[in-house]
Amino acid sequence: MIVTRFAPSPTGFLHIGGLRTALFNYLWARRNGGEFKLRIEDTDLSRNSAEATKAILEAFEWVGMDYDGDPVYQSDRFDLYKSYIIKLLDEGKAYKCYMSKEELDKLREEQMARKERPRYDGRYRDFTGTPPEGVEPVIRIKAPRHGEIVFEDGIKGTIVIKADEVDDFIIARSDGTPTYNFVVAIDDALMGITDVIRGDDHLYNTPKQIVVYEALGFKLPRFYHVPMILGEGGKKLSKRDGAADVMDYKRMGYLPEALLNFLVRLGWSHGDQEIFSKEEMIELFDPSDINASASQYNLDKLLWLNSHYIKNSPNERLATLLEDFGIYLLSHDKREILLDIFKERCKTLAEMAEQIKEVLETPEAYDEKAMKRAMKGDAAEILSDFAQMLKDAKELHLPVEYHKLMEDFVAQKEIGFGKIGMPLRLALIGRLGGPDLGDVMSIIGKEETIARIEKLLGFIADR
Ligand code: GLU
Repeated sequence: MIVTRFAPSPTGFLHIGGLRTALFNYLWARRNGGEFKLRIEDTDLSRNSAEATKAILEAFEWVGMDYDGDPVYQSDRFDLYKSYIIKLLDEGKAYKCYMSKEELDKLREEQMARKERPRYDGRYRDFTGTPPEGVEPVIRIKAPRHGEIVFEDGIKGTIVIKADEVDDFIIARSDGTPTYNFVVAIDDALMGITDVIRGDDHLYNTPKQIVVYEALGFKLPRFYHVPMILGEGGKKLSKRDGAADVMDYKRMGYLPEALLNFLVRLGWSHGDQEIFSKEEMIELFDPSDINASASQYNLDKLLWLNSHYIKNSPNERLATLLEDFGIYLLSHDKREILLDIFKERCKTLAEMAEQIKEVLETPEAYDEKAMKRAMKGDAAEILSDFAQMLKDAKELHLPVEYHKLMEDFVAQKEIGFGKIGMPLRLALIGRLGGPDLGDVMSIIGKEETIARIEKLLGFIADR
């Protein structure tokens, strides 16, 4: 069975790089009918917070990524880690080191002066004498002194690290707390993780974790170290690109399936296919196909995907999602026509909400530039004549009926369409651009159309 995990450190919100790592692990487990586990790496009590954990769980819920079992919290497992430290001490595979900070600093300086890589020199490895007084020891694990640590990385190929690059590293600090690489190895082994897919910033933690696996006789998992996501322009991904909170994407009006589709394509591909439903991702994803070079964040691609998923969403779902953006259409009589129009035009829910609001609400102000362009010459008179024509007209319902009326109007007046189109747009939505005028009038109705025209005319008269 394939068992994967996502192991975030709750130091802040979940960013999209983290979500991509989680997604890869999730897909690989689901493809194989295996398990996907969540482990909260909250041993650093000074940097971790319960809110950050909550934010991670909330993000998982939003994107609909379900994990198996309850999340495992490292902070609940200190006794367990301690028992393994004692075991290694008892077996002579770890030892107490009494070196003081000053001694360590001195050693480091000497090594640097000799142009050597700073590393612990193993001076307490076989120590049998009387320990110095007043020093609380740290616990170090015995790393191999000769040869190489070798592992197969499913993305990067064979990784070979010379044994002298891994020193006898600390597994427990002098206050007894276990260190990062030690607990990760123990947890992965005890949780039965078979495949570790994680960011390649952890590549050089792996040899240390292998030392722990071997000391404890645990079976090694397969490792996949995923290259990072670069920002636009090939630089480090920054807040501006989207290193931001996953939940910001919700606030900006992205659909979770668009974000997941976007993320799966950052570093992984299947031919030249761009659109992947979750089922397809599960069917096709294989971590061995992850690209060995870094991928690049591309906002246009995300927007393109989002508009694809918006277009293909049922209106009822869109209406429900738009409530978070202050638009309540679930029982609105013009719901279908409104959503049919705007799902074709908008790339995000936020944009959709803004444009729908523009149609549903009487403008509070008018765009100055548009006013100068639209209200030249006899525009006010034309607008007022059009309002009169509306008043005289029979009941109007459909967009085409409003179109017909406008056509009759320009024919009768012998004017170009823009002569009524521009001022009317300004009256209806407060600016130029925006959706089809027939659609807008049909949505808001005849009375409201007349009222908006009169409001603009009143505004101009008062100036
Ligand atoms: N807690 C680590 C992080 O957030 C992940 C460790 C791992 O995946 O092994 O970067």
